[in-house]
Amino acid sequence: MGSEGAARWIVGEPWARVATFDLDKTLLGYRTEDVPASVLAALRDLVASGRKIVLVSNAHGVRVNRVRRVAATIGEYTGAPCGVVVPADAGDKIKPDPGMFRVAAERAGVEPTACVHVGDQLFKDIWGAERAGFGATVLVRPTGDGDHLGVRYLQRPLETLARPWLGYPLVTRRFPVKARLVRG
Ligand SMILES: [Mg+2]
Repeated sequence: MGSEGAARWIVGEPWARVATFDLDKTLLGYRTEDVPASVLAALRDLVASGRKIVLVSNAHGVRVNRVRRVAATIGEYTGAPCGVVVPADAGDKIKPDPGMFRVAAERAGVEPTACVHVGDQLFKDIWGAERAGFGATVLVRPTGDGDHLGVRYLQRPLETLARPWLGYPLVTRRFPVKARLVRG
């Protein structure tokens, strides 16, 4: 399952008011700006169900512009503004620092417990959002072409080793078995 499946899962969870998404390898490939049509459609359904969408990305410098352009595309397609939180919005802290996730919740006007984060990395996305007190997190299979070299050759192998210990499947095509509910 990818981010489309995660978006559909959120639609069925009444307590989840805000969906935050990692960008690279979660909604689209590395460095591209093309959000797949199936992902846009799932995000539109999410917005139609009354949910807010916020992109939470570790992009810095000129790369922030790319995140904002993708958010504009999503906003145009879904008919509602798509928020953006980058390190500059959270005292230059980067994921997995919970600060970025807390800023996302605050700007959306809800408590972290009313938020779900969807991301492809256990450490940056899942652990960070859980520490921020998000209601749930969804680990998705990395999507699209390309990858950051450090992520591909260092972080992903380490995360693969960590997955069984943290209750996640070893095989990425089985993501997610279920969303990990942080709240009761
Ligand atoms: Mg990612």
